[in-house]
Amino acid sequence: MMSSWKDNIRSVVPYTPGEQPNQPHMIKLNTNENPYPPAPEVKSVLDGFDPDKLRLYPDPKAQALVDALAQYYHVGADQVFVGVGSDDVLSIAFLTFFNSDKPIFFPDITYSFYPVWADVYKIPYETKPLGEHFEIHAEDYAAPNGGVIFPNPNAPTSRYEDLSVVEEIIKANRDSVVIVDEAYIDFAGPSALSLVPKYDNLLVVQTFSKSRSMAGMRIGYAIGQPELIKAMNDVHYSINSYTMSRLAIELGVCAVKSEDYFKQCIEKIKATRTWTVEQLKDLGFEFAAEPSANFIFAAHPKYPAEALFTALRKANIYVRYFNTGRISNYLRITVGTDEEMHRLIEFLKTYKN
Ligand code: PMP
Repeated sequence: MMSSWKDNIRSVVPYTPGEQPNQPHMIKLNTNENPYPPAPEVKSVLDGFDPDKLRLYPDPKAQALVDALAQYYHVGADQVFVGVGSDDVLSIAFLTFFNSDKPIFFPDITYSFYPVWADVYKIPYETKPLGEHFEIHAEDYAAPNGGVIFPNPNAPTSRYEDLSVVEEIIKANRDSVVIVDEAYIDFAGPSALSLVPKYDNLLVVQTFSKSRSMAGMRIGYAIGQPELIKAMNDVHYSINSYTMSRLAIELGVCAVKSEDYFKQCIEKIKATRTWTVEQLKDLGFEFAAEPSANFIFAAHPKYPAEALFTALRKANIYVRYFNTGRISNYLRITVGTDEEMHRLIEFLKTYKN
């Protein structure tokens, strides 16, 4: 038989992002965005941005943004890598560090992009089952592997693991890189960033998409010891030099510097989360773990999640539903404004009553 070009295609099953509906008066609680605008200083910089600057390529090193992050987190500029959202940073990290014949490890219930990157880069992987309360068992990760990745807090469960669990995994894996995906850490407990000086195999990845209200600008970053960051930059410059646009660099610098606003937004979202969790509890919802991100993972013993998801959608309230295994009766609900959460609770109070 003649060979076909189709035999040479890299065929993959892609990741499915949450939908981006655009209905008037919708309540959008399906992709863990921040309900508040970016810092007012970001608006001023955007308003004053001179389009003539767009004639020129941006700084391939995005040095201004790297420096702002280094200063904010008290690390060296050679310890910071920036990318087009943390998805870009994570994808480069997979390509750079997960290059072994041994499988990489991640939890069985986690960010559904991990198996997709593993497949596209042909990285073998093995999943480790979470416990009854969606907890990570550190001892599961103490076996030969080609790398480890997990989010903290985990998605979509919203469970935060204590730093002692994180450290146990890093310690048990001194011969592989451990990536801690901290997309939601600002809504939870202490970050693994404090462990970076101790462990040369730790990479911490964070994003501007959630706590800094800039999902649409696409900025993510990784912090680790200089050797890890250099390896990522070598791979990055072997694919695309100019990833960070001029606008992303300028607005990113400004967002990092607007610390007061950033902290106020986080406190507001945490307070709204506490209120919503109490209301959901009163309505009979259950949580396998304490919600610790800017989203809540909840199940109702009487109302199947899929039917609830559909009813909410009809009412123009968008949440996320994953029809898979142990989590098929859960809804993932992003924490919106107080008003949005009131409307959600009002709807749930009348549901099937
Ligand atoms: N990690 C986790 C666990 C996430 O849920 C997300 C959001 N989908 C990301 C990374 C990527 O976010 P972004 O690319 O917007 O930084």
